[in-house]
Amino acid sequence: MARYVFITGGVVSSLGKGLASAALGALLQARGYSVRLRKLDPYLNVDPGTMSPFEHGEVFVTDDGAETDLDLGHYERFTGVAARQTDSVSSGRIYTNVLEKERRGDYLGKTIQVIPHVTNEIKDFIEIGDDEVDFMLCEIGGTVGDIEGLPFFEAIRQFAQDRPRGQCIFMHLTLLPYIAASGELKTKPTQHSVKELRTIGLQPNVLVCRSEHPIPQKEREKIALFCNVRKEDVIAAPDLKSIYEAPLAYHREGLDQAVLDAFNIAPAPKPDLSVWHDVADRIFNPEGEVKVAIVGKYVQLEDAYKSVSEALTHGGMANRVKVKVEWVDAEIFEHEDPAPYLEGFDAILVPGGFGERGTEGKIKAAQFARERKVPYLGICLGMQMAVIEAARHLAGIESAGSEEFDHEAGKKRFEPVVYHLKEWVQGNHTVQRKADDDKGGTMRLGAYTAVLKEGSKVAKIYSATEIEERHRHRYEVDIKYREQLENCGLVFSGMSPDGRLPEIVEAKDHPWYIGVQYHPELKSKPFAPAPLFRDFIRAAKENSRLV
Ligand code: GLN
Repeated sequence: MARYVFITGGVVSSLGKGLASAALGALLQARGYSVRLRKLDPYLNVDPGTMSPFEHGEVFVTDDGAETDLDLGHYERFTGVAARQTDSVSSGRIYTNVLEKERRGDYLGKTIQVIPHVTNEIKDFIEIGDDEVDFMLCEIGGTVGDIEGLPFFEAIRQFAQDRPRGQCIFMHLTLLPYIAASGELKTKPTQHSVKELRTIGLQPNVLVCRSEHPIPQKEREKIALFCNVRKEDVIAAPDLKSIYEAPLAYHREGLDQAVLDAFNIAPAPKPDLSVWHDVADRIFNPEGEVKVAIVGKYVQLEDAYKSVSEALTHGGMANRVKVKVEWVDAEIFEHEDPAPYLEGFDAILVPGGFGERGTEGKIKAAQFARERKVPYLGICLGMQMAVIEAARHLAGIESAGSEEFDHEAGKKRFEPVVYHLKEWVQGNHTVQRKADDDKGGTMRLGAYTAVLKEGSKVAKIYSATEIEERHRHRYEVDIKYREQLENCGLVFSGMSPDGRLPEIVEAKDHPWYIGVQYHPELKSKPFAPAPLFRDFIRAAKENSRLV
């Protein structure tokens, strides 16, 4: 039976609850425990898959094909534990399950209510895989007091009651605002948010307080007194220079000790933090810098490409360089020459994306990188753009484009070098799709195998001939153009095992020009950088003549 840590937030959102949860997961692992992290999101979407990146940031995809919150990316990056479908749930999913059961008649004529039916559904979800790990860390999205959050708070209260005493604890994250005029950290919002929690029957065991300044002893005592926790359980969470410092910083502040104390685990096993010391050393002591341009559409919101920017950082750590990322809005190139914007970068990355807006600019960026021999990594849409670019400018298919844009515009303007994928093989069955299918959860999602061509650049980079990477796309490069493109130097160096779906393309006469249909960024970790990002940054470093 696992022990449970429920992580809630108060005062304001975006305090770094996901990061605190992930760091705690890493610290418990460092003490020899196994962990799994979960996110319970109160919004009514069934999953974030249909939300705009502007609304919700990146959609993180798991091996088993769930479209989840970006916090699951933090969990994986800090613990290395691959998340699953059952690690992310929303009110929308919970209510859908309850209503489906009601329609089936599973409730035997009962009146369906939030308590117990919705709360039971939440509790059942929380304990999936209960016997697999030592600690289950469950983060509740949003802040205490949100209307949508109430069933989740009630469910975790009941859950802790149902379990033997001492098996569940509550960790609450708050903010201590700093009032410059009086030079004081204010504890009142924290007091109120804990009061709010206690009204619904939850007493936090550990309080994590974000603050720009160290918490003076007097304030610590005040928080302890008014919030009914021990002084040692008030953990300061100062702003950090890098998120990868979080495990060490939280350990210094005593977070893992406070959690183990709350469970009465004594003596606590000693932590081995060597991995995190190495990570911090690589982050804080780079031996140079490379500049990478990310040419995309959602550039105003960096969270939209969270895993991409983290994977670049990991690639930098592997090569002991700092990666300076600049976000370039692809739409600019629709009217302007990309050269003045892109000269001076050591490498160019075109990430995933949806819809036509900005794509002509991305094609120009791909062309610039190919012609100027600048390292280029095209991810998903970025690969499709590289193929369209080569089709237009090398293979002479002037009207080459993607069916995605014709679908949007409702007319046929392009020769569909990239087409709407309607059938593919998953394991031992065939998945089928129609043009008018629902949008939610119907893409080609999750881990699929790619077979790499022997002697290719990617086979060398991965040191393998078969890889598993995560996908999230509806469109696909049409294999019927393979020969034509290969004759012009764009090699299809990775294919689905049945040889029907192009997974990777690479340019022959180019130092580093690779497009991948999958998302290599999703499996990258600071202590195990994704091979493609590691080598992309190596190439950027070479291009910058740092080596
Ligand atoms: N829009 C493209 C597709 O659906 C690319 C998706 C992506 O970049 N994740 O195939």
